[in-house]
Amino acid sequence: MVNALIVTKDDETGKTQASVERIDDSRLPAGEVTVAVEYSTVNYKDGLCLGPGGGLVRNYPHVPGIDFAGTVEASDDNRYKPGDKVVLTGWRVGEAHWGGYAEKARVKADWLVPLPEGLTTRQAMAVGTAGFTAMLSVLALEDHGLVPGNGPVLVTGAAGGVGSVATAILAKLGHEVAAVTGRPETSDYLTSLGATQIVAREDINETVKRPLESETWAGCIDAVGGAMLARVLGQMKYGASVAAVGLAGGAALPATVVPFLLRGVNLLGIDSVMQPFDNRQRAWARVASDLPLEKLDAMIQPATLADLPALGADILAGKVRGRVVVDVR
Ligand code: NDP
Repeated sequence: MVNALIVTKDDETGKTQASVERIDDSRLPAGEVTVAVEYSTVNYKDGLCLGPGGGLVRNYPHVPGIDFAGTVEASDDNRYKPGDKVVLTGWRVGEAHWGGYAEKARVKADWLVPLPEGLTTRQAMAVGTAGFTAMLSVLALEDHGLVPGNGPVLVTGAAGGVGSVATAILAKLGHEVAAVTGRPETSDYLTSLGATQIVAREDINETVKRPLESETWAGCIDAVGGAMLARVLGQMKYGASVAAVGLAGGAALPATVVPFLLRGVNLLGIDSVMQPFDNRQRAWARVASDLPLEKLDAMIQPATLADLPALGADILAGKVRGRVVVDVR
């Protein structure tokens, strides 16, 4: 028997309900590797899957949790053996498949990544999908020419999960980091992560008035989308790149193409879900080397399975600071 956070749906009203239940192991889905999950976390998508599903969940009852880290308990695949430490993000685990909010998970071997040297399972989930995606964004900016000394790198939604990790990594790499936040009370936190400049959300949250403004940012990791992303495009330095990660502020992009045509600005799409294995390993290795662990510890808000329904609502309301780490045991 294992503890699991189960979401059920009432077919008549369409309402969902999430609660911790004790379930038999036989209810785990089919798969090649059974993992004793130690930690999971709370991402924006988890907020959706803990509630009405946002169109992501296929079948109920459902176990959410889009990422987890733990120890292999049984394996039918020769890449993994009992006792191996592993981490999983993406592949629609926790959405279309049962996820990490349970003491055990069973998944395809292809979906797993060996835990990188130097990280514990708890630290891996303090990173989680949000931090992994922040690292993918840094890699994409570097692949397109960003080096320290180019100028300030803008991070939007900075006090959130993606933004917090992006800020800490960029600062460790020697970049100046300008952190955009709608929560002025997080300024000290963002400065402690390495932000050199705090930008108020309202200063950058307007729809584009002029397609080009002064060339300000050498790069951007954008977790917000919408009007903010549109505005930022016109503020990028010549040839600079924006990694588009999220839509916390909206999915629309009310922009013009002028920054692409006159300044050679690049808009780089970042997807963490279907990343090929090699790039996953590359990103996790860079997390282990480039994310200061003491800063990661400062981002952690500990939680248990029972806390998840409330935390799901909080993350959808933009109220979570940094990274929630859920001890599922
Ligand atoms: P969080 O909720 O932790 O962070 C989002 C942050 O965005 C908030 O903390 C807040 O930062 C800011 N924000 C929230 N609402 C608004 C708004 N209306 N206007 C402007 N800013 C806002 O979420 P995550 O960091 O986990 O995820 C961020 C985004 O990235 C989400 O949209 C998520 O779906 C997406 N994502 C995409 C992935 C991919 O593979 N592409 C993977 C992981 C996440 P502050 O208070 O500092 O302003």
